Amino acid sequence: MPPTERLYYQDSHLIEFEARVIANSERVSGWTAVTLDRTAFYPTGGGQPSDTGTLNGLRVVECIDDTEEGVLHVIQGRAPEVGTVVKGRIDWLRRLDHMQQHTGQHILSQAFVKLFNAPTHSFRVLDESCEIDVDLDTPSNEAIERAVELANNVIWENRLITIRQVTSQEASELPLRKEPAREGDLRVIEIEGFDLTPCGGTHAYQTGEVGMIAVRSWERAKGLARIEFVAGMRALADYRRANQSARATAGIFSAALADTPDLAARMIEENKQLHRRVRSLEEIAARVEAEELLVKATTGHDNVRIVSELFDNRDAESLKHLALSLINHPETIALLGSRDKDAARLIFARYADAPGDMNALMRDACAMLDGRGGGKPDMAQGGGKSVERLSEAIETAAKQLR
Ligand SMILES: [Zn+2]
Repeated sequence: MPPTERLYYQDSHLIEFEARVIANSERVSGWTAVTLDRTAFYPTGGGQPSDTGTLNGLRVVECIDDTEEGVLHVIQGRAPEVGTVVKGRIDWLRRLDHMQQHTGQHILSQAFVKLFNAPTHSFRVLDESCEIDVDLDTPSNEAIERAVELANNVIWENRLITIRQVTSQEASELPLRKEPAREGDLRVIEIEGFDLTPCGGTHAYQTGEVGMIAVRSWERAKGLARIEFVAGMRALADYRRANQSARATAGIFSAALADTPDLAARMIEENKQLHRRVRSLEEIAARVEAEELLVKATTGHDNVRIVSELFDNRDAESLKHLALSLINHPETIALLGSRDKDAARLIFARYADAPGDMNALMRDACAMLDGRGGGKPDMAQGGGKSVERLSEAIETAAKQLR
């Protein structure tokens, strides 16, 4: 069987073609791989996902490069008979997107070579962006932005992109950006006066078609700089998302976009200070509150004072402040609880020399609340889900001490 003639090698903008079916093979139930004598569909390879489209109106969901069988077009449904002529159609926006990312990658990778002599080790087209791993000695925002600027200048100069078929002998005399991955005759992609790279992918006619390139983020990975970038339509989509998010944030601050990072940083700093201030005021308030509660205390064994109190919506830290203020007073035991909509919390604490095992009392109380808790003989904390039994749990603990 002769290999599939790859029409995309000659013309990356060909989206409609006719071809003859030369083989059909059912892969898994309902899915068939169709082989044609010629195709404009690009199969997955070289970091670039495959084209999708239709064959006689049937959806082509993926194309696979099979070294023995040629380009396999995966379709669902009844496959056209071997020998028939079918009409193929490529999803153009997907092809254009892939060409923009892929051609953009040639340009950006060469920009890193020109500026920093830093070769690209790998390239991947992801769902929303692309990644390259660049051997950049000292990656920094400034270095990467310099490469992005050079790449965009090359894009806007709208340089011609041509395909050269060369022998391996001719290739060895060309200043190729990377070593050919295979032996024999080579397909070399030339970006006028800028880049020469052996490649079997689909590329723009001229650099202007790439639109623009932007780097979203970068990080160090395995000794290389992993750079996430977007080109063409993806750059516009990314700008829209970023702009929407920036405007929503600026709206919250009623401020200009450029002012929001400083405002947000200042607000977080103020929030930290306020938090500290609230905690120190709580300690003062807890001392005053403790004095008031002591007046209502009941008396237990050995004349110990028992303060039992139930609050609404009081957080664990605030309850603890109050308990600590109470047990600052000699011969005092604090049995404190707080409830909100779906949780009950408890703290039991006693003055150092007062009687009673707070840990044991807490375990019993938590069992009533269908929860968990514990601690030491002089202080224990816990909680549970049975909010409605909180009052009963505190009263039961108080009874044991009387
Ligand atoms: Zn390429």
